[in-house]
Amino acid sequence: MGKFHIAIDGPAGSGKTTVAKLVAEELDFGYLDTGAMYRAIALFLHENGIKESDDKGIDEVLSKVVFEYRDGRLYLNGKMVGDEIRTVEAGMLASRYAANPVVRKHLSRLQRDIADDRKMVVEGRDIGTVVLPDADLKVFLTASVEERAKRRWKELKEKGGNISYKEILKQLKERDERDSKREVAPLKPAEDAVVIDTTNLTPVEVVYKIVKIVMERLKK
Ligand code: C5P
Repeated sequence: MGKFHIAIDGPAGSGKTTVAKLVAEELDFGYLDTGAMYRAIALFLHENGIKESDDKGIDEVLSKVVFEYRDGRLYLNGKMVGDEIRTVEAGMLASRYAANPVVRKHLSRLQRDIADDRKMVVEGRDIGTVVLPDADLKVFLTASVEERAKRRWKELKEKGGNISYKEILKQLKERDERDSKREVAPLKPAEDAVVIDTTNLTPVEVVYKIVKIVMERLKK
């Protein structure tokens, strides 16, 4: 089998990353985390003093940026993207830069190039709607905002962060608002997406549902 694209979209904390990675492992597919690309680019632009409103500056820089995907890892201009993108600040920066259509245009193109004709699970916010509208399977994960904040809080605590649950909840609501209200590629399920509410499901239960659908589609 050549190409098979599985788009997994949903808000922060919906379980996308855990689920997408497990689905990729289970099916022996590649895995692309497009949020990591937004985070890495936002940090890169920010560190280079290019503001999120500077369309021309962004366009110039992003026309030359090289993103590579090798052995499941992302490289930005030859440098491996690491844990520096996993902070709350990087998430906020990513959501600010992600509202700029010029940033989205370039990142969508880079994401399509990476997915190409591979077997890939691609995780993000607009994969099924914009980046890969012809994906073989589109999944949209949701969960209550409280459950999502709880998950994020646990995750950050395990990594040694000491941010409060209340602060996370506030930031998640802010990010949700910005991500779903922006004019370009707002966060919403594609019309033909399978919507799964993960509030009361374990990641393994969600993975099982998705793998089952993939198997059915592969049989056809
Ligand atoms: O998924 P993650 O939390 O790492 O994404 C960080 C931010 O990047 C999101 O809040 C969103 O603003 C942006 N993003 C996006 N489109 C994607 C993936 C991420 O706008 N496909």
